[in-house]
Amino acid sequence: MHPEISVVIPVYCEEAGIRFTLREVEKFLAVSASTWEIVVVDDGSKDNTWNEITAISQTMARLRGLRLSRNFGKEAAVSAGLEAARGKAVIIMDGDMQHPPSLLPTMIETWRTGEFDIVEAVKSSRGDESSLSAARAKLFYLILRAFSGHDLNGASDYKLLDQRVIEAYRTMKERNVFFRGMISWMGFRSTQIPFEVEPRIAGDSGWSVFGLIRLAAVAVTSFSTFPLHLITIFGVLFFAFSVMLGMHTVYMKLSGAAINGFTTVILLLLIIGSSLMIGLGIIGEYLARIYDEVKQRPRYIVSQKLPLNQPDNPASP
Ligand code: UDP
Ligand code: MG
Repeated sequence: MHPEISVVIPVYCEEAGIRFTLREVEKFLAVSASTWEIVVVDDGSKDNTWNEITAISQTMARLRGLRLSRNFGKEAAVSAGLEAARGKAVIIMDGDMQHPPSLLPTMIETWRTGEFDIVEAVKSSRGDESSLSAARAKLFYLILRAFSGHDLNGASDYKLLDQRVIEAYRTMKERNVFFRGMISWMGFRSTQIPFEVEPRIAGDSGWSVFGLIRLAAVAVTSFSTFPLHLITIFGVLFFAFSVMLGMHTVYMKLSGAAINGFTTVILLLLIIGSSLMIGLGIIGEYLARIYDEVKQRPRYIVSQKLPLNQPDNPASP
């Protein structure tokens, strides 16, 4: 038997807040879902998170736990949770209380009308985030929209997805996942519910600047080939420039004027050299991505599982 609702929560070093979060989620599910399960994915935490999850599962029968063998990143942890989830609808949320569990009943009600396959909670404010990290996020979305044509500003990973969407998602085998982008790419009927981002209950945001840049690179290269076209555009412009400079040089030569060509040669070398480097760099980015994808490695590796001993919801083998 499949539960009606699965809630997937990726966590990384959330030992201080995970217990409270799970209790809150349970509280709101109990009043809004007929049957449910919580799938919490420990993304290779270095602290006591997994022990906490194990302890909580003693008293929370509908809790399932997955522990990844190392920190694979939030996107991979969400993938792991989605593949393990068995609900008719799956809700993805953060484990730090920034995604208010009080929104769960509204999301479930909206899905039950049968009109939507995706119910998306959209940030109406970015909570108590420092202006630095708000600026960081803003820049991230700006770059993303410019290159990929997907406007994801305000989009969060707090979403309810119907079974149909999950099945489609499972057919997407790429290894570098950008969850928000993939959901938007798939289409389906969706609706939005605004929410205020709460402050984190404990710990720090797990995103480093480097991690964000990496995610932006994945998002751009897996959703657009625009950087490749840039090479062509530069190439054409550069060619036009070369033709004009060439004609000028020939004219000067024919008219017998003394040419002080040294500067020109050096400049040309620099320009050609650097533009070749940029072009090769961009091609390299795509090659790296192709290389990654053809390896067909799994997105994550599970090292431990917690069974769920609940009659209507047998533990997976
Ligand atoms: N997270 C994760 N793996 C990571 C980093 C974060 O599973 O490598 C989890 C984290 O525990 C939280 C959610 O992803 O439940 C959102 O992370 P965070 O709060 O750090 O991000 P932000 O709210 O700043 O976007
Ligand atoms: Mg957070």
